[in-house]
Amino acid sequence: MHGFSYKNESLFCDDVELSSLVEEHGTPLYVYSAGTILDHYRRLDQALSGVSHEVAYAVKANSNLSVLRLLAHEGAGFDIVSGGELFRVIKAGGDPAHCTFAGVGKTRDEIVYALEQGIYSFNVESEEELRYLNEVAGELGMIAPAAVRVNPNVDAKTHKYISTGKSENKFGIDFDAIAGLYERAAKELPHIRMRGLQMHIGSQLTSVAPFVEAVEKVAPLARQLKERHGIEFWSIGGGIGIVYQDSLESGPSQWWESKAEGERPLTIEQYGREVVPRLKDLGLKILVEPGRFIVGNAGVLVTRCLYEKKGSAKTFRIVDAGMNDLIRPALYEGHHEIVPLQKAADSSLQKVDVVGPICESGDFFCQDRELPHFAPGDCVALMSAGAYGFVMASNYNSRPLPAEVLVEGETATLVRKRQTLDDLIEGEL
Ligand SMILES: *Cc1c(COP(=O)(O)O)cnc(C)c1O
Repeated sequence: MHGFSYKNESLFCDDVELSSLVEEHGTPLYVYSAGTILDHYRRLDQALSGVSHEVAYAVKANSNLSVLRLLAHEGAGFDIVSGGELFRVIKAGGDPAHCTFAGVGKTRDEIVYALEQGIYSFNVESEEELRYLNEVAGELGMIAPAAVRVNPNVDAKTHKYISTGKSENKFGIDFDAIAGLYERAAKELPHIRMRGLQMHIGSQLTSVAPFVEAVEKVAPLARQLKERHGIEFWSIGGGIGIVYQDSLESGPSQWWESKAEGERPLTIEQYGREVVPRLKDLGLKILVEPGRFIVGNAGVLVTRCLYEKKGSAKTFRIVDAGMNDLIRPALYEGHHEIVPLQKAADSSLQKVDVVGPICESGDFFCQDRELPHFAPGDCVALMSAGAYGFVMASNYNSRPLPAEVLVEGETATLVRKRQTLDDLIEGEL
């Protein structure tokens, strides 16, 4: 489900017309649907209702304070990957006691900050890190709650840049080394309390099979660690994929339902149906760490067409958003549907490249794609840009960061101001 649809040939986010937001805030502009975010959160929560669980939203997918506030209010926990994300969660009213801290390269300052704030667990990615955590906690006279990230060596069958659960990835510790590590920790690391076990095999998984494979492989280990070391939780990670190739024409939900069971992409209900029975009898609290699933389809990036440039080989539509605003296509061949804010009377399709203004050939949003008519001056929405969109935006080419708007029903709120030229040089001496 998502909150974007046409009414009278004009694209809306819930009850707010996107063109009215463009008039007020300009382009490029990120727009998020609060209703969609909450719907996704609640559906996942519901799908896991058969087991004791907590949804820890992966902050890195979209860390705007208003998005975090919405989810904190809904009762979500948070999976963070930096001290900065912890800071954001706290500013948004989230509870550190419901935060798990992932990542292979935690610094001393981040560890100290997270210990002082009383986070739920450090999800540790190497023995070296665990020993360092023990040392820092000892200096502060504290006990650090920890879980080790197991690398189950399962192929998530996703883009190689977002696959994390194979032995050749930098993430986690080899499956076979885990039990021994918990033994050593119990004997040698007095300032560590092993609280759980964690895994995360990759992002944008579009079938349930790798999740099932990983859960089945690791469940006996989780059971063993509970018996021997009294761990209380198992985080099975995030990674639930979303549909990027959506059709607004037939309506997203109809498009979804028109697919036969076998070719239908992963649904959250299917995820729950397959995964929950395999977790039920462990007696552990199950954590999930979804990022993309919660916010991906809940956001769009609106951009204005500046020029149409007809070359000998191609036609380029040049828009005012670039890879600095949304890097997914350039970074990992991410696909975003491109739809006009106002449907034109001319319903013909043209094969075009939609490109940004950045001085990089990788700065495109699509290549040789059949798109509906839009002309210079018209605006289009890059769909499904709610996750790994704004958070990866940069000032490359000295372009100010775009503004962000959160829509709740009929109400649209500016939740981040567009950067000014002065903002660009702030902090430079
Ligand atoms: C990035 C990340 C997630 C979230 O991944 P999604 O694909 O956005 O659900 C969850 N857990 C960890 C450890 C991560 O690094």
